[in-house]
Amino acid sequence: MVEFKSEAALGAMREAGRVVGTALAEVERAAAVGVSLLELDEVARGVLRAAGATSPFLGYRPSFAPVPFPAVICASVNDAVVHGIPDGYRLRDGDLVSIDCGAVLDGWAGDAAVSFTVGAARPEDVELIATARRALEAGIAAAVVGNRTGDIAHAVGRVARGAGYGLPEGFGGHGIGRRMHEDPHLPNEGRPGRGFPLKPGLVLAIEPMLTAGGGDAHDTDPDGWTVRTADGTRAAHVEHTVAVTEAGPRILTLP
Ligand code: MG
Ligand code: MG
Repeated sequence: MVEFKSEAALGAMREAGRVVGTALAEVERAAAVGVSLLELDEVARGVLRAAGATSPFLGYRPSFAPVPFPAVICASVNDAVVHGIPDGYRLRDGDLVSIDCGAVLDGWAGDAAVSFTVGAARPEDVELIATARRALEAGIAAAVVGNRTGDIAHAVGRVARGAGYGLPEGFGGHGIGRRMHEDPHLPNEGRPGRGFPLKPGLVLAIEPMLTAGGGDAHDTDPDGWTVRTADGTRAAHVEHTVAVTEAGPRILTLP
């Protein structure tokens, strides 16, 4: 079932989203060569704690997962696409890092992700991340009343495919509200004019994931969570929680 949010609810979701955006900004600021993924998780925990927010990631156990997720961020490095579990790995020069974070504040959820490089960036990683951001911007621009989810999917997919990148099969965005994952599902590739109609109060997490090698195939680590590109090439993941309003798309997860 799809829930359309009132203006008051959107205001509450903006506050939850602000916590997420702030946590991601703090994590990116703290990320440097030699810093561990567990230390980055601690940074995000501190931001959530200070805001009085809880984590929808911590203890999350969807049907595919063998164990509950043990952290408040997903930290996916290099060929990891999404769902990386923060561990003692220390960031190395040139790593491409994707951080996904959520927060629940006053019963409302926010969900966003950023990708960045650490140390001396490889030019191809800079281009991959820039394209993922362009895909997200195109998706957000299509999140307008009168469009459908297929228009967002088409906008995201066109940017990614146009640059020769892959889109991991089966992954995409989602509705979000009191729960982190709500209907409708939002693919990262689709046909314009198809899918769920966008109406005021619909809130979507739009989240392009791009693979550098152009392949859509992926594998899951023995930990049951970490998704990696099958061809070993690097991936980028960016995400915002976005409300459809009469005045246009409203990003709820800026710091
Ligand atoms: Mg996310
Ligand atoms: Mg999401």
